[in-house]
Amino acid sequence: MSKIPYWRAIQKKSFTHWKTLLAYLELPLEEAEKEVFISPQFVLNLPYRLAQKMKKGDWKDPLLLQFLPLKKELYDHPLFVSDPVLDSSFTKTSKLLHKYTGRALLLCTSACAMHCRYCFRQNFAYEKEALDFNKELEELAQDPSLTEIILSGGDPLSLSNVKLQYLLQELNQIPHIQKIRFHTRFPIGIPERIDTALISMLSCLDKQVIFVIHSNHPKELDDDIFTALKQIQKLGIPLLCQTVLLHQINDDIEILADLFTMLSNQGILPYYLHQLDRVKGTQHFETPIEKGQELIKQLSTRLPGYCVPKYVQEIPNRPNKTSIDLHSFQCL
Ligand code: SF4
Repeated sequence: MSKIPYWRAIQKKSFTHWKTLLAYLELPLEEAEKEVFISPQFVLNLPYRLAQKMKKGDWKDPLLLQFLPLKKELYDHPLFVSDPVLDSSFTKTSKLLHKYTGRALLLCTSACAMHCRYCFRQNFAYEKEALDFNKELEELAQDPSLTEIILSGGDPLSLSNVKLQYLLQELNQIPHIQKIRFHTRFPIGIPERIDTALISMLSCLDKQVIFVIHSNHPKELDDDIFTALKQIQKLGIPLLCQTVLLHQINDDIEILADLFTMLSNQGILPYYLHQLDRVKGTQHFETPIEKGQELIKQLSTRLPGYCVPKYVQEIPNRPNKTSIDLHSFQCL
């Protein structure tokens, strides 16, 4: 009988029904029926340990606002669309995107440890089940201009260790691939995912591995997460963090300064502060760019340079992410 990994058992305990979550958070159901989007296609999915960090009885909790589907998602806005960054026009196969020079992105899976309501890939036409990566591996092997593969999704750590090991071993054998980059939010919800099998497979790779975690608020972080991530750092793998700027969640100097200080104290460097991608139903999360620029300016006077991320926006059809901090505008 095959043994289910411990982290899978934890994943099964995630909140997937709004009534159970609101009862746990002691929020009145009568009020909820006016506000909550009851049957979204992109369903509620929230790991228990993140719910534990939410303040009971508080509709405005910055973690709850990131994960609870609200009726606001149903509002239409002409600038907020299904595929705001035009990912679908850069697909080489159903699971491989080639947008930027030298880098390709593999959509490893549609599954995530949690469903963030602002996610720019929530409408992506994923394959129902990624059975194998044969076509993608073949494409990568045939294009020597590609030196870095970005494992994204969904979340690449949603793959089982068996599938992930197979994929990594195959990538490890493509001579021109020099770097394998993970983009993951999994450890923020289920740090147990960084188990001995994962550490062992990472330690066997010849390529440079880079981990980019995704965290938006200091309340998401704790010592268990940092202890789990330390195991990756001990392999000499650089850890970076990207953050999405979110209205009434983290568009505040104290919150961002705390987040970037906590991360850098653990050797995790703030990499990008992302302007929200304008995906359908997410307009209530958008912070004006001017406010983001002001926040970056203030952060630059408070924190050392390596603790201040690059403020960027993905503008479709540009050859790279666009820097939108004030300095970049002055240089244009
Ligand atoms: S973890 Fe990342 S990919 Fe998954 S829903 Fe959240 S933002 Fe989207």
